[in-house]
Amino acid sequence: MSEQLPYRLRLPGPTPVPERIYKAMTQPIIAHRGPEFHEVMKEAARSAQTLFGTNNQVMFCTSSGTGVMEAAIANVLGEDDKALIINNGQFGERFAQIIESLGRQADQLTAPWGEAVPIDAIAAQLEMENYRAVVAVHNESSTGAVADLKAIGNVVQDTPALLVVDSVSGLGGMEMRQDEWGVDVVVSASQKALMCPPGAGLVCVSDKAWRVMEGGQARPGFYWDFKRARAAAEKNETPYTSPISLIFGICEALRMINEEGWENVLARHARLNSAMRAGGEAIGLPVFTKAPLASNTVVVFAVPEGRDGGDVVRHMKQNFNTVIAGIRNENMKGKLIRIGTMGGCSDTDILTDLEYLERTFAELGWPVDPGAGVTAVEDGLRRAM
Ligand code: PLP
Repeated sequence: MSEQLPYRLRLPGPTPVPERIYKAMTQPIIAHRGPEFHEVMKEAARSAQTLFGTNNQVMFCTSSGTGVMEAAIANVLGEDDKALIINNGQFGERFAQIIESLGRQADQLTAPWGEAVPIDAIAAQLEMENYRAVVAVHNESSTGAVADLKAIGNVVQDTPALLVVDSVSGLGGMEMRQDEWGVDVVVSASQKALMCPPGAGLVCVSDKAWRVMEGGQARPGFYWDFKRARAAAEKNETPYTSPISLIFGICEALRMINEEGWENVLARHARLNSAMRAGGEAIGLPVFTKAPLASNTVVVFAVPEGRDGGDVVRHMKQNFNTVIAGIRNENMKGKLIRIGTMGGCSDTDILTDLEYLERTFAELGWPVDPGAGVTAVEDGLRRAM
């Protein structure tokens, strides 16, 4: 069957690239230090400010998300500095690994997957010890948990610490108000809600962070030095050869977002995500991370006890040519199913997902009420019109 059906990329990133963005990316390569490219960079950086909720300079680089996570740490933490990691999932764990691999120090406040570290615990820890940075994940793609950045920013803002945030799977699909919330360094990437191929990183740094970095002892190395990136960004360039085609793509993606209207884009993500959650619940797939923590860019379902989510992931690919995600973490393997609702995602995508999930359950011999998922999605989509 999979031969006849179109390939469907339904991961929580990378996400499908709309035709219009592909077209923009096929423009001939131009000089990355010439006036034509400056215009594109200027537009992209200016438009991206809306998504970041900032007046700060948005900087671009050639990197996946992990590269800019590492860059943020390397620019902020010096040898004697310590970070406080807010860890409730795979990408919080990744920050811990990055910090360790750079030979820097960190304490961790952990919460079980699907839950949040209480704000009081963060505030109490910041009173007990001086940290150079508090490190958090905006949208934990492994669990679908959203960090309350406003509340975290509120407790970090009045301390010397910088709030460093991974918004790799949040930016472009979920609200980010860098300036208002007091987020000091935000990093993101091209391949999620920004609807582009992987390969470009985005970084946005607050005035407080520039001050702290200038007075600090961090040695970020050559390529990842944010000061070089800032000097280049002020000329609408990157310090080294730019990911030119990706910048064309990001610029086009931001035009699309602008045409749809930023508030409408956010509302579409919320609507599709809640419809998908309702659809899953209707076929016996409870949402792993409950509202109000639940993400709008990914739905993470908890697989019923005694069943293996890997079977669903495999069946969806083999029989419906649809690629969804399980989870790679050893402790959670088989227990979670993850589907993206970000970027150019539409009603049809969500309806098709539920139809295929229902059929998968039936074909695997799992109990399912045929049509219940699709009906719940239809109802959910209608309710949120
Ligand atoms: N952070 C989050 C929240 C992510 O979802 C991902 C990728 O899935 C990353 C970081 C890592 O990004 P990359 O795979 O582009 O290095």
